[in-house]
Amino acid sequence: MQVWPHRSLIRRRKNSPHNKKGDKMKCEQNKYLTLRGSIDLTETIDEVIFALDESFSNYPAEVTSGLRTAGHQLELIQQKCSNHGISKDFPSILNATVDNVDSWLKPWGKLLTIGEMINPPVPARAPFDYTKPGGEKRNAGNLIGISNHMQGHAFDIGLHNQKTGKMLDLQQLVMIIGEAAKTLGLIAGYLPEPVNGALHIDCKDMKLKSF
Ligand SMILES: [Zn+2]
Repeated sequence: MQVWPHRSLIRRRKNSPHNKKGDKMKCEQNKYLTLRGSIDLTETIDEVIFALDESFSNYPAEVTSGLRTAGHQLELIQQKCSNHGISKDFPSILNATVDNVDSWLKPWGKLLTIGEMINPPVPARAPFDYTKPGGEKRNAGNLIGISNHMQGHAFDIGLHNQKTGKMLDLQQLVMIIGEAAKTLGLIAGYLPEPVNGALHIDCKDMKLKSF
């Protein structure tokens, strides 16, 4: 069964079959930080992408990933396993399904052992010992939760802007987001992901605003 922690917050873009009222997300009006293709959004990430638009007026960029389902997450794991030749040792990953945990657990765990820190499609215990890119060791059995993307609290900005054809500089993106984070108060954290060609951004959950 799929878990949707914030079902009520999930709204899809206009062209999505899941859209009910034709709601437009605010960030669809953005001029500089724009959406690539049909990315699924939540109110939480929409608010942040909308608020960031002006910060990108001199450095147009694209949001390349927003809300992900468990199925999307599994597809990412499958892609990474193919890229690293892991599917040869664990062919079950090729036809894996979210519900059949055995079909993806070990190949996913193998990714962790080579420094590919990717969340599982449902919370799962790492099947093998692994070392994080920062050098911290973790034992097999370590429980890893779902990604902030699946909770609708995170989005990625890509290094390649398809609209302008330009390659952006990761350090420059980090500087822009760092500055914006100081004034907006909507950003919980951010993480450069050079391997994925993206800057990952975690949003503060507006629902949890304190009073
Ligand atoms: Zn991300």
